[in-house]
Amino acid sequence: MTSLTHFLGGTAAAYAAGAELVVSAAAGFAAVLPDIDTPRSFIGKKLPFFSFFFRHRGFTHSLMFAVFVYILVYRFLGVEPALYAVTGFGSHILLDMLNPSGVELFWPLPWRVSILKIRTGSFCEILLLAGLAAAVLVIRR
Ligand SMILES: [Zn+2]
Repeated sequence: MTSLTHFLGGTAAAYAAGAELVVSAAAGFAAVLPDIDTPRSFIGKKLPFFSFFFRHRGFTHSLMFAVFVYILVYRFLGVEPALYAVTGFGSHILLDMLNPSGVELFWPLPWRVSILKIRTGSFCEILLLAGLAAAVLVIRR
């Protein structure tokens, strides 16, 4: 999925979970973070040296990394920001599981988890992106 899809997915997930829109947007930025493992992504282009250390859709797309993110954010910002960061992160993992490449959810085990076959940049992803944008605009508490 593209960085924009991940950003909107993370924003929509946090907004649906009850966060204010600004906090939801921060969760959207957290949702972009896992693709630091590829130099082709928005954040990977900014910090290309990370892709030398991590295989794409490996550690940074795993449950272990989710725990790491939670502990790191909890340590510096508290429980609520940590939960929203993990919500944004989790949306990234879920969206990438919709792709045929899948993710190494249980890293370091090498098994990839994929639940659908939506390809990056495809018409289906554009529909998904539009749905996520609509969700951010429509969701009300
Ligand atoms: Zn990803």
